Amino acid sequence: MRLQYDLGNGQRMRIIFVFVIVAAAASLGCWSFGGAAGNRAVAAGPTPMKQDQTPKGDFVKHLPAGFEMPEDDSGKLLLREYGSVFITSATPPKKVVFKNQADVLGFQATLDKATQTIGGTKVELQRPAMDALNDAIAEARKVNLTIGPRGADSSRRDYDATVGLWASRVDPGFAHWVAAGKVSAAEAKRIKALTPYEQVPEILKLEQQQIWFAKTLDKSIIYSVAPPGTSQHLSMLALDVKEFENANVRAILARHGWFQTVSSDLPHFTYLGVSEAELPGLGLKKVENAGRVFWVPDM
Ligand SMILES: [Zn+2]
Repeated sequence: MRLQYDLGNGQRMRIIFVFVIVAAAASLGCWSFGGAAGNRAVAAGPTPMKQDQTPKGDFVKHLPAGFEMPEDDSGKLLLREYGSVFITSATPPKKVVFKNQADVLGFQATLDKATQTIGGTKVELQRPAMDALNDAIAEARKVNLTIGPRGADSSRRDYDATVGLWASRVDPGFAHWVAAGKVSAAEAKRIKALTPYEQVPEILKLEQQQIWFAKTLDKSIIYSVAPPGTSQHLSMLALDVKEFENANVRAILARHGWFQTVSSDLPHFTYLGVSEAELPGLGLKKVENAGRVFWVPDM
């Protein structure tokens, strides 16, 4: 259970309990973005806050021009869970899932980027995201706080990095479910022969029948690894923050346009580049999980 990372024992037991309930009750909840195994702290699904009275904008209306609206269930699910990044004031991608390494590198090549060493670790972000991060770091320093990356893969990632992790869940998952008679050997072989891009909707479809592909085989693969091509880190608009447990750090980041937008992924911050007051008007809604505020698509 990845929840053991960064959490105290009491909180861990509480969250595991909630997690089991959520896993049993829902066929699919939220998930965290990929990274090296063990480089994340995740928690159970979100709890909607009391009804927000702020006038809401239309999330879909604020998607970038030329956005490829997903037509299938898998794509719609991914948009609902990861989609806040698309309203960023920096440069959002135009699609929910990048197809392959060339697709990701092609997008990254178009960006105005900045590279900087923070706390001894190289950080690569879109330039407006880096500028805002530096402003947040400066504000934090005034109150003797630091803000930095958790590890080497905390900012920019490429597609290939996520493919091996994905296979490390899919392959043992099929071995189990074929042996259990839930999936035919032919069907497993067919799906495994697809590209990772093509596998994502197939795996999510099997999970709708409780055929789970997380490492523990009792919940969605998306609690365990990021579907290839879906991470906000690919867009250079995300940072996994070392000091994510500090509420003051989270508040400072929010004042500089960095928000939490993936409710299961506690260290993960997304550069949206607008003030918190503007978020409802852009179609995001506030949810609370593990004592944090997350801004997610209202759809
Ligand atoms: Zn992340």
